Amino acid sequence: AKDAIKILVTGAAGQIGYALVPMIARGIMLGLDQPVILHMLDVEPAAKALEGVKMELIDAAFPLLQGIIATTDVIEACRGVNIAVMVGGFPCKEGMERKDVMPRNVPIFRAQASALEQHAAPDCKVLVIANPANTNALILKESAPSIPAKSITCLTRLDHNRALSHIADRLNVQASNVKNVIIWGNHSSSQYPDAHHAIAITSIGEKSVKELIADDHWLDTEYVAFVQQRGAAIIKARKLSSALSAASAACDHIRDWVLGTPKGTWVSMGVYSDGSYGIEPGLIYSFPVTCQKGEWSIVQGLNINEFSREKLDATAKELVEEKSLAYSCLDN
Ligand code: NDP
Repeated sequence: AKDAIKILVTGAAGQIGYALVPMIARGIMLGLDQPVILHMLDVEPAAKALEGVKMELIDAAFPLLQGIIATTDVIEACRGVNIAVMVGGFPCKEGMERKDVMPRNVPIFRAQASALEQHAAPDCKVLVIANPANTNALILKESAPSIPAKSITCLTRLDHNRALSHIADRLNVQASNVKNVIIWGNHSSSQYPDAHHAIAITSIGEKSVKELIADDHWLDTEYVAFVQQRGAAIIKARKLSSALSAASAACDHIRDWVLGTPKGTWVSMGVYSDGSYGIEPGLIYSFPVTCQKGEWSIVQGLNINEFSREKLDATAKELVEEKSLAYSCLDN
């Protein structure tokens, strides 16, 4: 039997956490033959709710779940973890802008970074979900210099999955028959959902989505806006932000990172820029990546047209601004 993998979920008593922990315990993240131990962290005001989540996990009698830690102590939560999913963060309440939450999130991510650096497994893989996800991941990276940059990522897979589904809907095929869309840049409304390189599997074989849709204007305007604004549409409908789809995307992100992407398929991940596609090195930026043997690499050599170039640069510019704002919070 395989050894259990320890998975940290911060903000585990929150909405996404509540959807995510049963998925992990059921084997959706790491496979149906992989035992897991859940480390759940939340803040003091949520401690009772967290205890309730732990009770429910026990009551579900998940065969793969070999242990549960529910704690408000960041060091206990980080001890020995192989995977860390950072969901907890200061929420962006109504009337607040992203820049208003930055001073609140910087200290949280600094503290968690040093706890991970000192107490997690040396090869721990980190996924940041709490917003502003890219910049929180960057703060984590900067505050934990001994964690390799390759081990720190942020979630844009939900945007990626939305981008797949919307193409599938337009082509009247299943989402599983569409691949290789790209989310470029920031997990914010400046992100660029790009279907110019996407492929659909149809009854006549693999075809370029661009050819099948034959409407570049739609792809560059309505399509982009739909994906960018999907999160807001869900908040409007549910009066709460997306949670089950975010949790499912977190499982997709980690599964592909650990177990590899299928041949000929790439996915979107927020990763440390090495300057690929002219994006400033040192930003956490969403790129198309393939994964093999637990390592991601950025897909190279895609043709970027003038329209896309502008979009790639605009979302990079926003990340540069967020970065300098975050740094000013670090100095204080
Ligand atoms: P959610 O579980 O709904 O969201 C958690 C975080 O994920 C938010 O920052 C949210 O950003 C972000 N997020 C990123 N992508 C998405 C997406 N696609 N859809 C929805 N959210 C997304 O928040 P809750 O308030 O229910 O739960 C947060 C939990 O974190 C609480 O239990 C709180 O106590 C805890 N917390 C833990 C901390 C810690 O562990 N140190 C620190 C602070 C809070 P956005 O705000 O933009 O929706």
